[in-house]
Amino acid sequence: MLIGATVFLSSISTTLYAFENTQVNEKHIIKNMKSGKDWPEHGFDYSGSRFSPLEQISTKNVNELGLAWSYDLESTRGIEATPIVVNGVMYVSASWSVVHAMDAKTGKKIWTYDPQVPRETGRKSCCDVVNRGVAVHEGNVFVGSLDGRLLALNAETGKLVWEKNTVKNSDSDRAYTITGAPRVYRGKVIIGNGGAEFGVRGYITAYDAKTGKQEWRWYTVPGDPSKPFENDAMEQAAKTWDPSGKYWETGGGGTVWNSMVFDPELNLMYIGVGNPAPWSYSKRSPAGGDNLYTGSIVALNPETGEYVWHYQETPGDGWDYTSTQDMILTDLKLSGKMRKVLLHAPKNGFFFVIDRVTGEFLSAENFVDVNWATGYDKNGRPIVNPAVRDMKNPYDIIPGPFGGHNWHSMSFSSKTGLAYFPAQNIPVSMSEDPNWSEFGSNVPGQPMSGTGWNTGVLLNPTPPTSKPFGRLLAWDPVKQKEAWRYEHVAPWNGGTLVTAGDLVFQGTGDARLMAFHAKTGEVLWQSATGTGIIAAPITYELEGEQYLSIAVGWGGIVGLTLRATELDTPGTVYTFKLGGKAKKPAFVDYQMGNLIEGVKYNPEDYAEGTALYISNCVFCHGVPGVDRGGVVPNLGYVSEHNITNLDKVVFKGPYMQRGMPDFTGKLSNSDVEKIKAFIQGTADAIRPK
Ligand code: CA
Repeated sequence: MLIGATVFLSSISTTLYAFENTQVNEKHIIKNMKSGKDWPEHGFDYSGSRFSPLEQISTKNVNELGLAWSYDLESTRGIEATPIVVNGVMYVSASWSVVHAMDAKTGKKIWTYDPQVPRETGRKSCCDVVNRGVAVHEGNVFVGSLDGRLLALNAETGKLVWEKNTVKNSDSDRAYTITGAPRVYRGKVIIGNGGAEFGVRGYITAYDAKTGKQEWRWYTVPGDPSKPFENDAMEQAAKTWDPSGKYWETGGGGTVWNSMVFDPELNLMYIGVGNPAPWSYSKRSPAGGDNLYTGSIVALNPETGEYVWHYQETPGDGWDYTSTQDMILTDLKLSGKMRKVLLHAPKNGFFFVIDRVTGEFLSAENFVDVNWATGYDKNGRPIVNPAVRDMKNPYDIIPGPFGGHNWHSMSFSSKTGLAYFPAQNIPVSMSEDPNWSEFGSNVPGQPMSGTGWNTGVLLNPTPPTSKPFGRLLAWDPVKQKEAWRYEHVAPWNGGTLVTAGDLVFQGTGDARLMAFHAKTGEVLWQSATGTGIIAAPITYELEGEQYLSIAVGWGGIVGLTLRATELDTPGTVYTFKLGGKAKKPAFVDYQMGNLIEGVKYNPEDYAEGTALYISNCVFCHGVPGVDRGGVVPNLGYVSEHNITNLDKVVFKGPYMQRGMPDFTGKLSNSDVEKIKAFIQGTADAIRPK
């Protein structure tokens, strides 16, 4: 009798989950903006505000936050996901696009789904094997896998419902990847891709959420001009590219790898378009031109994929200034008039306010020091510094390609009127690559050309001189002025959340989740986490209690080679509530080896070894002995045995299972000897005498 009753009850609660999950749709997401009980959308709501109306946790009691539960994501690479919470279930994606579903009250595992991404895909991803999250809609959970598939999973069971390869097209052999979160607008799942560093042609695709049938695809840059244009927008864009640069062969870039937002009333969706390919302007489009729609915000009709308007933030980009950073839609009173606006702080260091109905440029001011432009004219065009246009000589560009602000999420409080986002400087100098010739060029010294990078520029040909920093900024978009800042110990910190309790939450690269007073920036609370944080926190309410949650896992492009802590705990979800008493999982220390010693090499190989290391190893492993390792080991601190036997590591080696490329046919045995000379030679050169 008792057993029967239990089975009966559990089947009821299962049905309840399934029933309520079907309610996650446009109506639910709009309604939830008032209650804040769920976190049903990547940016909390369609406008991407990351502003929660919950205020149980406030400036008065935030210091009473304690751990409610933690969950092991079983991941040793970067965690960039914003969790989704609906009806008491949390859905989080981890590295290699693995999805976890857990009870949002207890952290108990419900299911996991591993899309079994082939590990050789790791070579094609510029910036770690990360995933920025899932979407939930009417009973399905959607995830984009690193190898370019879009998967629909049953929200209740984690079973595969349908799967589409979104990168199978005429350019299939190009290095497309997916790291971004899908969005569902008007019953269509929309997903972009990455790969502009490797020479792809960017696009986004919409699929029917129920069946997976492709509804539309919109390219961001023109294709081969000998073929018909896909639409008028492509015809217009083609006029802004010089065909002598053969952009259709180098791909053109313009990938939509992160930000999308949606205005249901205007029936417009907005995408942030990435950098052109190759990076070098003079090689890509020798006669100049704006190279649309790279570095732009584009408004599309989500039902048809039709172009409506665009605003280009970085015309003729030459510095990897993507416009893919999070956008936020809000209404602001400007010069006495209410305007429907779009807020944006892209990599190029300027904070933009754009009219989202028409695409009209309203204002832009720099939120960090910049030296590539002196400002924007009244038509919304940057006044570009001529020295950065002509990159014949190395230029210490600010912001560099890591951006004054990267993908780490921004939030906006309608209570304080302030936007909150991590700003940074990561020093990089750049110059034209005189040896670059054509697509697929792989010359020693070209950054990562051996694994397919194709930028046409040299990075740090001379040491950069600007100073690194990482800070949390509170920005007033009406005054276009900083309201307050908090200086972190290093760049590359997490995204933000702001609440009606006047709290801003942000994780840091040095492994802390912090709470700030939204009006003043005063630090009100912090809690240590097992490793550095790059993702953004969320909040939700269950049975009358407010929870604060964050997915933690150091990594991403900076975290591959660098770190700001001595901690290396695997990826974990930490969830806090007032009076929480759970114990944190044990933290794991980073295992740092000694500076490498004893690898035999010929010193005459050093110069050639340097160039080979730059074109095959440096973005993942850093500078041997100088950098200290991130989620990928620094080769100056691994065992002598590994480097002495480097051929066994680089040719079909054991680390391929972890995503390391196979260099068979790409490097010769004599190349490997030269790389050894660079690794041991650099370690010897910096060893204290
Ligand atoms: Ca890029």
